[in-house]
Amino acid sequence: MSEWPVGVFASVDAGLGVHLDVVQELGIPTIQLHAPHRDSRTQETADTFLANCVDAGITITCVFGGFEGESYADIATCVRTVGLVPEETRSARVQEMKEISDFARKLGCSAVGLHIGFIPEDSSSDRYRQLVDATRDLLDHVGANGQTLHLETGQETADHLLEFIRCVERDNLFINFDPANMILYGTGEPIDALKKVGRYVRSVHCKDALWAPEDQRGIAWGQEVPLGDGAVNIRRYLETLKELGYDGPLTIEREIPEDRQQQKHDIGQAVRLLESLRAEILG
Ligand code: MG
Repeated sequence: MSEWPVGVFASVDAGLGVHLDVVQELGIPTIQLHAPHRDSRTQETADTFLANCVDAGITITCVFGGFEGESYADIATCVRTVGLVPEETRSARVQEMKEISDFARKLGCSAVGLHIGFIPEDSSSDRYRQLVDATRDLLDHVGANGQTLHLETGQETADHLLEFIRCVERDNLFINFDPANMILYGTGEPIDALKKVGRYVRSVHCKDALWAPEDQRGIAWGQEVPLGDGAVNIRRYLETLKELGYDGPLTIEREIPEDRQQQKHDIGQAVRLLESLRAEILG
């Protein structure tokens, strides 16, 4: 794969990402895939989807897990419902994430990703230690499948995420960096955060956002906007990725599945923006 191939979030069936025919129509060579529901995670589904990707010259670079019961309605609801942090659902979700890792393997994909949730603040607490243990258990399974696990950024500050990765002490734990999430969740200036966690970044999202009003940051969402229209500074973002030696895919994420027409339009524009910046920056 050449340096910085453009990518987009796609789905096997209905879901947040775009359908494969849209990926093809836009001429995008790589995808990250939202894992389909359990019923669809079969060998047959994997074989068919992979064959369609191969025919279209599309490479699957990461499979993202998500869980029943997660809600991004507002930040407080996120804290209660997202990822492996909520204790009531943790063991079932670790099990499901292992199954998603197995499905990714069927697709020949060597990376899986997820929002782990809002990692507890106190690293000496039982809650934190138990989350570390659950993450190690998952990582051992993912590792046995020959895969890395990428934690989506946004729900923690860069320092907090780094501390967690160090505590887990596994060599297949990395980061999927999403600059817009740092703004949406109010967890830090994205370029500064990227520099801090850079050595762990193995995949990235190209997404843009506007900050919530200053007194609302971390309480109310910022606003996701088309790539280039937000506060990330996409040129600086790509320049920083270059400084860090990142050469993986640039995966566009535009989370407006309620308006497929607009989503496709915005993704098309994002492709052109990334291609022109890539030509300038990589020369
Ligand atoms: Mg993202």
